[in-house]
Amino acid sequence: MTGRHHRSRVLDKQWVTPRMVRLTLDCGADFVPTGTDSHVAVYFYPPEARVPVEFTAENLTDLHRFASPQVRRYTVRNVRDRTDTGTGPATIDLDVVVHEPAGLASGWARDAVVGDEVLWWGPTEAWHLPEQTRELVLVADETGLPAVAEILAVCPDEVRTHVVALVDDERDEPYLAPGQSQQTQLTWIHRGPADGVVPEEFTCALDTLLTTVTAQATGPVALWAGVEFAEAGTLRRHFADLERSHSHVTSYWIHGQAQDARPDARNRQRNLANRAEHPDEAAAHLTDLTQRSSSPGSYRSDGGRHS
Ligand SMILES: Cc1cc2nc3c(=O)[nH]c(=O)nc-3n(C[C@H](O)[C@H](O)[C@H](O)COP(=O)(O)OP(=O)(O)OC[C@H]3O[C@@H](n4cnc5c(N)ncnc54)[C@H](O)[C@@H]3O)c2cc1C
Repeated sequence: MTGRHHRSRVLDKQWVTPRMVRLTLDCGADFVPTGTDSHVAVYFYPPEARVPVEFTAENLTDLHRFASPQVRRYTVRNVRDRTDTGTGPATIDLDVVVHEPAGLASGWARDAVVGDEVLWWGPTEAWHLPEQTRELVLVADETGLPAVAEILAVCPDEVRTHVVALVDDERDEPYLAPGQSQQTQLTWIHRGPADGVVPEEFTCALDTLLTTVTAQATGPVALWAGVEFAEAGTLRRHFADLERSHSHVTSYWIHGQAQDARPDARNRQRNLANRAEHPDEAAAHLTDLTQRSSSPGSYRSDGGRHS
């Protein structure tokens, strides 16, 4: 496992498209980049949590009995080395889709300013292109595009890539530079704001793609996808004949449901029960708001009042 906990700062903020904001974070020279679709988990704590200054797994165990964070996942982009000494990574980018209405993380990213503190864990292990692959199918909505960009950047020239990108409208397209590679065939589908219904154009595009790829494949075909839950189901059905080891389809979000909604609800209940049962211990980890049950909207991703 390569990831660790990080307490870092927003060093820069840029809008890369009208709906995608890029936050540059410092990551520390011991950040171990794993490439392609590796991601980090941004932590959002309830306001009463006294987050330890030394933000390590060891120090968090007790706090999490009384105040668990909500977590949101974002792909690691553009790992940059230190320019002064060249000794290891210095910064990473997170490209965050600001959807409407905004959620906990997208609202935070939209409103973030340079200097804000961010608590996160990462990176995770990354997906690797199966050996011998000759045709690579990449399917993504806006949330999967950061990973697609990272995969295309390291994809060998001899692999033909086919990208199907599902977005609101043409304003999202500049995110992937056209003609990134001679070998990339890019299909954009403009579905308008996502409403949880798989658009017919998506199913048609997959039909066409499957026929083309199967007809021209000179070697193994691989599929990588990061899309909404219902789209992931459609994809798996379309590519059901693909070898399991060559198919990597992930639901990046679920329409109408906050990420990790169920485990978060369980954690909140457990936290409140522990507070009631061990008030003295709880007091060491919480501010004077101890007895208040926090609403999800008030969670934050900075250290707040440190213990
Ligand atoms: C491995 C992995 C990597 C990811 N990488 C990225 C990335 O690089 N960039 C990125 O922007 N996202 C990425 N995502 C998706 C992101 O984590 C989710 O979209 C997340 O739910 C956003 O959190 P939120 O707090 O804004 O919304 P939540 O609080 O989780 O959800 C609130 C509401 O917003 C809806 N919602 C969530 N996401 C969207 C959306 N994109 N469009 C429309 N409605 C939405 C939910 O259905 C819910 O109704 C990744 C997810 C995974 C699992």
